[in-house]
Amino acid sequence: MKFGFDIDDTLINLREYAFHYYQQQLGKRVDIDIFHTLNRVEIHEAFGLSDEEGKDLWNRSLDFLYFTDCPLYFGALDLLKQLESGGHDIYYITSRPPEYADNTFNWMVEQDFPIVRENFFCGMKDSEKVEIIQNLQLDYYFDDKPAVLDTLTNTPVKVIVKDQSYNRHLDLPRVENWDELGDLINSEIK
Ligand SMILES: [Mg+2]
Repeated sequence: MKFGFDIDDTLINLREYAFHYYQQQLGKRVDIDIFHTLNRVEIHEAFGLSDEEGKDLWNRSLDFLYFTDCPLYFGALDLLKQLESGGHDIYYITSRPPEYADNTFNWMVEQDFPIVRENFFCGMKDSEKVEIIQNLQLDYYFDDKPAVLDTLTNTPVKVIVKDQSYNRHLDLPRVENWDELGDLINSEIK
């Protein structure tokens, strides 16, 4: 079967990594509980920044956030390796800006993700993911972002949400921890 994955906040804990980085950069301590109650993808409001200031800080932080030590979610790598050894095809579809594609691919290789260049797609808009997902005829697709997930409701792909504070309103199958998903997939794809 064909499994597609978003990367940021689906396989890796990018926003929380950014939340800690922002505290250092801005010299401002903000309780992690606030992070866990944010109801939008963007994190800057917790630091009292406007949307414009937040966007600017985010864009200036990308090299650090993308290419240093952002933690993978527990169990994500094991699951991907399990799928690979089961003979399944794994695709990565990320809307990171296109200029970060090569370094993102290399970072994924360094983290030991099972990844090949032909199955790595980077640089599309959120609204353009649906076309790639349909062209690839994925069986499963995993993402965290409502703006992406909303575009997939009328497609044949089985969509699974990576649980986050800002997507709890979506009525879709959901995974909270990747080490729990193995059982679900094992029972479904026999
Ligand atoms: Mg994401």
